[in-house]
Amino acid sequence: MSIRVYVGLGSNLDAPAEQLRSALDALDQVQATRLVAASALYTSDSLLPGQPRYTNAVAALDSALAPLDLLDALQAIENDQGRVRKERWGPRTLDLDILLYGDQVLDLPRLQVPHYHMHARPFVLYPLAELVPADFRLADGRQLSQLLAACPYIGLERL
Ligand code: ATP
Ligand code: MG
Ligand code: MG
Repeated sequence: MSIRVYVGLGSNLDAPAEQLRSALDALDQVQATRLVAASALYTSDSLLPGQPRYTNAVAALDSALAPLDLLDALQAIENDQGRVRKERWGPRTLDLDILLYGDQVLDLPRLQVPHYHMHARPFVLYPLAELVPADFRLADGRQLSQLLAACPYIGLERL
């Protein structure tokens, strides 16, 4: 049985738009997983000073992988695309975060879903909104429309 999963993609190094396009192809190649849809790409300034501008998008997947197996696959794609883990929130060629995994709420050491900070990130919420119905609710019951209303569309450029 497949689960609908939403993945947030981000990059601010080494041709970010190309990184995201490669990552979308790679997501479609993951075992037991299919890329269903992808949002437009959006750019925004880094939340931390002194970093290059970010490019972000959200992908919808159908996956039969268990959550941690999917996380392993996403981290393998990050590594394949040259992700180097130094300081947290440092510049990166590719970040792939599981935003939502069906209607599951998970609080594991390696994986929290819904993603703990998605509600405050316009570069996650607005691309996600392209892919879901207007009355969409997160697994924990929060309504996407309310999160959008509390998270102004500021500083985002839709490519
Ligand atoms: P942020 O989580 O604030 O977006 P980040 O994406 O830069 O920061 P990473 O360095 O990519 O953070 O990941 C750090 C750890 O977060 C990973 O090793 C992973 O185990 C954990 N993690 C927890 N929840 C999730 C999730 N929903 N998706 C991806 N990784 C997660
Ligand atoms: Mg992240
Ligand atoms: Mg991450």
